[in-house]
Amino acid sequence: MPKIADNLTQVRRLIQQSASEAGRNPSDITLLAVSKTKPASAIREAFEAGQRDFGENYAQEAAEKIAQLADLDITWHFIGPIQSNKSRMIAENFAWVHTVDRLKIAERLNQQRPEHLPPLQVCIQVNIDGDEAKSGCLPTETAVLGEAIRRLPRLRLRGLMTIPKEGSGAQPFKDLAQLAHALRRDGLPLDTLSMGMSGDLTDAIAAGSTLVRVGTAIFGERT
Ligand SMILES: *Cc1c(COP(=O)(O)O)cnc(C)c1O
Repeated sequence: MPKIADNLTQVRRLIQQSASEAGRNPSDITLLAVSKTKPASAIREAFEAGQRDFGENYAQEAAEKIAQLADLDITWHFIGPIQSNKSRMIAENFAWVHTVDRLKIAERLNQQRPEHLPPLQVCIQVNIDGDEAKSGCLPTETAVLGEAIRRLPRLRLRGLMTIPKEGSGAQPFKDLAQLAHALRRDGLPLDTLSMGMSGDLTDAIAAGSTLVRVGTAIFGERT
């Protein structure tokens, strides 16, 4: 079996196993294949092995690959930091954005989302462990940002996303799940928890992840 197809099979198996250990239905967990820095040919290979959701971090690089792969029915997710001057490219090319962490960016995306496309699906990136080096709004700011996003007609609020400090174990995932639970109780419609990567997807799934973002385990190391 070609390498990428083989890797995908193994990642799917791990998701299934992690879900069943957690008493969860594996079909409630979406696998997002993170293809940043990888060529369009690698994405095509993964698509042929049945993968449909792909994540990219750099707007310019992604726009080029999206154009090259326009013949494929791919759902594209933006998962990188959002610079203001790249927001239009993101609003025009992606179905999902996982990294909205301030109102100004949400408003730009709302304004720039083309009329002929469905609303942009949005997750709020939360800096759940207060890591200085990281983007993401603070847990205490999430409710206000969520309410504001909810009022923007060209965006659809879907959930929360986080990238915990490396090696911090299961706790940040539990904290994000708890935050989502509290916000839902207060009326925010959140059905997505975007958390877990190649190295920690089992912990993330145990805590309630509905979407794991996996790069290295599918496409190999990035150079
Ligand atoms: C690169 C990246 C991933 C994938 O990380 P791997 O460790 O290669 O699985 C997931 N999420 C985000 C936000 C990323 O930037």
